[in-house]
Amino acid sequence: MTGTISSKISIKTNPDDWETTQKILVVLAHPDDPEFFCGATIAKWIASGHHISYCLLTCGDKGTKNLKMTSEELCQIRQKEQLAAANVLGVKNIRFLGYQDGYLVPDLNLRRDVTRVIRQEKPDILVTCDPTTLFIGDDRVNHPDHRAAGQAVIDAVFPAARDHLFFIELWRDEKLEPHSVREVWISGSLQPNTFIDVTDYWQIKIKALCEHKSQIGDPDEFIKKMNSRIAEGSTQDSPRYIEKYRRIILG
Ligand SMILES: [Zn+2]
Repeated sequence: MTGTISSKISIKTNPDDWETTQKILVVLAHPDDPEFFCGATIAKWIASGHHISYCLLTCGDKGTKNLKMTSEELCQIRQKEQLAAANVLGVKNIRFLGYQDGYLVPDLNLRRDVTRVIRQEKPDILVTCDPTTLFIGDDRVNHPDHRAAGQAVIDAVFPAARDHLFFIELWRDEKLEPHSVREVWISGSLQPNTFIDVTDYWQIKIKALCEHKSQIGDPDEFIKKMNSRIAEGSTQDSPRYIEKYRRIILG
């Protein structure tokens, strides 16, 4: 079903037109990225019976102002928080690749590691973020890890995961068959083409985000800020919420 909130964009009530249960793999840079970027869509997909897995590339082990905190301690905290947040949404299958926060580069090692995960998980749908987004509005710079993650993941989807001769050791030594992902959903894109109405799942997204206690600051302020992110054309009295993607259908 499709409705219209503004004259410019079409908002889908159903997040997809899939007729069968889909395997969806979310590959992003940091603990908290899945919930921030697409948490409500994930909740909606789970309610529709789809299977969701997460792969987090880094440990999120640098972003603190606590001068007594070590990267090792922060990594433990962030992983624990990520597991709790995923649990709120109903995501049970989570893996961490353990790259260092802030130092992610889209090199061949990262591409091979993501290719391995794609071939192991065999997703129909893969969710990542947009490697081309450098600035967000007039006051934000996109995190370099987000750009690196998006680049490595998209390069792993096509063509590396698809053809056995790429990273041949995966096929020859690890017996991982080539796999073709059917769709890529890219969050954080400046050219979105898919707008999902996630109003019914906005509160569970916030609840999941609140599990990232070390990242959100004052919870009351955070909840207020998240609730203020209403869709264009809706009001605080009758809010609608959307999550946006660039959806690429590879076939
Ligand atoms: Zn992030």
